[in-house]
Amino acid sequence: MKINTICVQGGYTPGNGEPRQIPIIQSTTFKYDTSEDMGKLFDLEAEGYFYTRLQNPTNDMVANKIAQLEGGTAGMLTSSGQAANFFALFNICSCGDHIVSSGSIYGGTFNLISVTMAKMGIEVTFVEPDCSEEELNSAFRPNTKAVFGETIANPALTVLDIEKFAKAAHSHGVPLIVDNTFATPVNCRPIEWGADIVTHSTTKYMDGHGATVGGAIVDSGKFDWMAHADKFPGLCTPDESYHGITYAEKFGKEGAFITKCTSQLMRDFGSIQSPQNAFYINLGLESLHVRVKRHCENAQAVAEYLSGHEKVAYVIYSGLPGDKYYDAARKYLPNGICGVVSFGLKGGREAASIFMRSLKLAAIETHVADARTCCLNPASSTHRQMNDEQLKAAGVPAELVRLSCGIEDKDDLIADLAQALEKC
Ligand SMILES: *Cc1c(COP(=O)(O)O)cnc(C)c1O
Repeated sequence: MKINTICVQGGYTPGNGEPRQIPIIQSTTFKYDTSEDMGKLFDLEAEGYFYTRLQNPTNDMVANKIAQLEGGTAGMLTSSGQAANFFALFNICSCGDHIVSSGSIYGGTFNLISVTMAKMGIEVTFVEPDCSEEELNSAFRPNTKAVFGETIANPALTVLDIEKFAKAAHSHGVPLIVDNTFATPVNCRPIEWGADIVTHSTTKYMDGHGATVGGAIVDSGKFDWMAHADKFPGLCTPDESYHGITYAEKFGKEGAFITKCTSQLMRDFGSIQSPQNAFYINLGLESLHVRVKRHCENAQAVAEYLSGHEKVAYVIYSGLPGDKYYDAARKYLPNGICGVVSFGLKGGREAASIFMRSLKLAAIETHVADARTCCLNPASSTHRQMNDEQLKAAGVPAELVRLSCGIEDKDDLIADLAQALEKC
């Protein structure tokens, strides 16, 4: 099936007389006839559900759809994108290990890796996404267990050279984890370029309506854990909390990562998506391919309009010829990039403030990637604690406006920008 069809019909095929829409299994628990039946589930000897903190049928239908969209072999939902990235990393890293990550990533993930996971004894080396292969290779250590990056970084809009990062990861015997939130599988499927694990904040385009916080993890099923068994004891040696099961042996390359992530991390941390919210995510997924196309058309039109405006100092959008990531976007995102455009006004921070307050359609929000256009000045909100110099170093100069183009009519969006630009 093509992406467009998977968006609509993937993950769930009703039988005769069964509900057409995915059922919401709003139940914490599941009933069995014998203790022996249930025991088999606990031993991972039989497939089935016993408690919604670990797994729920509604969630699994939606996770399967996302796994199909990404071309993976297994998937799971989490309560948020933060939980997805934490689980994806912590499933293979523990105290004393090390991660190589692109430095151009979402602030929440940067904090997770550099502060919170550091407290767990996991170290990180951040690399410039545009570094040479040599620089990238020199970031690895004997205890490196994973490489991390974002297809399109939020908010810097850097496009990751997935092939370069995958090559370095694989030559050091570790997987590449790619957060594909901004591109979505409609515009890029990182697994086709060598990524091993793909994560999502489904809160963004997948939900697409600003209604539900959520996350997802997809395994490509390609990474050979057993070939690097010394690096990944959690997958390649017996798990005593599951009667000595060795995940990579019992579930193979295709299933080991997600099975371990569910039966250990979800069991112990409990960051499960609610079935009701999984249903909302699925409603979003049913129109993902239609919406993403419109988001991208609007963003391209807005970026072109802004780059020709006399009051605009610069526009960051890899769909513009001359953008630093134009060639990378042509390669990895040939059908469209994303709906988010960043730009700076010649009048600086003051002008940005007047501009944003004058907008009528675009609302000021700490959010991106939903149907309604919204904007944010990181310097006066998410990055408020930084001074002008720190802001510049973080890639979010004081005047920067991040505009997330929705799916309204582009003429209306441009007219709104035009009237607001006139006032500043
Ligand atoms: C928003 C976001 C996250 C975090 O997701 P939540 O659902 O807010 O927890 C992670 N990565 C990227 C790229 C994001 O945009």
